[in-house]
Parts: sequence; structure tokens; C-alpha cells
Amino acid sequence: MSEKQFCVIGNPIAHSRSPDIHQLFAQQFGHSLSYTRQLATMDTFASTVTGLFRNGLAGANVTVPFKLAAFELASSHSAAALSAQAVNTLIPQADGSLLGANTDGLGLIHDLLRQNCTLKGKRLLLLGAGGAARGVIHNLLEQQPEVIWIYNRTTSKAQQLAQQDERLQAVEAWSDVAAVDGIINATSASLSGQVVPIPEPLLANLEFGYDMMYGTEPTAFMQWLQSRSNAFISDGLGMLVGQAAESYRLWWHSELPSIEPVVTEIRRRLAER
Ligand code: NDP
Repeated sequence: MSEKQFCVIGNPIAHSRSPDIHQLFAQQFGHSLSYTRQLATMDTFASTVTGLFRNGLAGANVTVPFKLAAFELASSHSAAALSAQAVNTLIPQADGSLLGANTDGLGLIHDLLRQNCTLKGKRLLLLGAGGAARGVIHNLLEQQPEVIWIYNRTTSKAQQLAQQDERLQAVEAWSDVAAVDGIINATSASLSGQVVPIPEPLLANLEFGYDMMYGTEPTAFMQWLQSRSNAFISDGLGMLVGQAAESYRLWWHSELPSIEPVVTEIRRRLAER
């Protein structure tokens, strides 16, 4: 069988771990693939994607800042992509059109469940209302939490996001929020070493805290939580691998690749750099 071609498109893109992750999945199945990084600009994104698929590309991942542009380029969409209005996975269809999926939310769910963080009936606090938060709402709601409070620095964005479902509540004042079972940090605050100041009484029953960011060291959010709670705390590397696993499954019509050994291997490689 000839080697299937895939890529990830973003800007910047040189740092992307997606080629490594997909090669590790391919080893699990004995598949052969080529997976490259493609740099684009807003002006060249659509023509780059169209050209690549015309030349036989079997699938593309899309990352910052092109997830909205990919949504617009796709002719049909998965339910999660429709909810997020953003696409991270493009799948060519028999008629030449592109199906847009968003696998970020399932990636998060796989990683939480893998680490025994269950969501059914739970009270959750989602920090942030940007692309990452929007991308996971659909799949979080599928897990049937009791409520998801959404806190965002710019409150109006949280209010807009909360309109999707009655289990979503925008936080206008911290007094709106009771003690929570799980916190998911979908802000980029940890990038600048900052932490959303959550009142400590809300942490009294906390089972888990999850930061979508990851790195070689625990993030600012993880460190802040570690010193205030005995909850289980995770970074977002497993979400990255989980979203890639869902893309892989969609492209190859395979079983879901094993996530855990790939998280371990990518973490090892990150530490080596
Ligand atoms: P966006 O730029 O779309 O949104 C950023 C969000 O963070 C906004 O809600 C913004 O609030 C908030 N924010 C930024 N700085 C601060 C601060 N200092 N204090 C409080 N809030 C802040 O980014 P994304 O949503 O795309 O990404 C968010 C994070 O999630 C990134 O770190 C990204 O790396 C990570 N991510 C990880 C994934 C994974 O697979 N592990 C997948 C996708 C994302 P405001 O609206 O007020 O500006």
C-alpha cells in the first residue's frame, strides 16, 4: 500500500509535536505514513489546503490561528465542530469536499477519563472562553455534568458561551459559584506565569484540576493549585495526544490508538530538549 500523506497547518508550526505523535500511532498499527508541518498565513491558508488535498493529502490537522478559517473552508461539520465553530481536523470526502471535525473536546475527555477524573453529575469550573474552551463544551456536556460554571476575564465572552445550554452558567461574581468538583483551565494565563485567582473556599471538595497547557515543568496554574489542594492535577499533554488519536481514528477508520504510551514517550522527548 502506498504511504498516506498527512500534515498539520499552523503559524507558528515548527514546535508542533503532531508528526511525532502520528508516527507513534502508526507504529501501533503497522501503518506507513508521512506527516509534515505546513506553515501558512491567513492569505495562503485556503489555497495551501486546497492544493494539498488536490495532490492526494489524506488528512490535515489545523492549529492556531487557522481553526476558524478551516471551519469556513469545510463543506460539512461534525457536531463538536459546529458547537465550537472551529475545526482542527480536515477529512477528504469521496466527492472532493472536506469534512471538518473538532477532536479537541474528545481529546480532553479521553485524558480525563484515562486519569480517573469522571464528569457525570459533577460541578465543574471552566476557566476561559477562547477557542480552547469553545472547542470542549460540546464533549464536556455529553458527559452529563450537573453544571459547568464558565469564568472568563472578559465576562461577556463567558456569557455568550453559556447561551448554548442551560447547564452552562457564566460567572459574573465568584459568589455565584459553589464548591466545585473539577477545574479545567482553558486560559493561556499560565503562558505568562499568571493564575486566575479562584477563591479558596471553592476548592474545598476539589477532585481534580486540569490545565490544557503543558511543558517540561508544572504550569503556574498547577503549582498554584498544588499548594492549596490535595486534588489530582494534570497538564494538557494527554489532551494533545488524545485529540491526535481521534484525528487518527477518523482518517484511518481504525480503533482509537493507545494514548498512554504516546504521552509517556512525548513527555520523555520534551524533557530531552
Ligand atoms: P485564545 O487566545 O482563544 O483564548 C485565551 C483565553 O485565555 C481567553 O479566555 C483569555 O481571556 C484568557 N486569558 C489569557 N490571558 C489571561 C490572563 N492573564 N488571565 C486570565 N485569563 C487570561 O486561546 P485558546 O483558547 O486557543 O488557548 C488557550 C490555552 O489552551 C493555550 O494555552 C493553548 O496552548 C491551550 N490549548 C491546549 C490544547 C491541548 O491539546 N492541550 C488544545 C487547545 C488549546 P480574555 O477573553 O479575557 O482575553
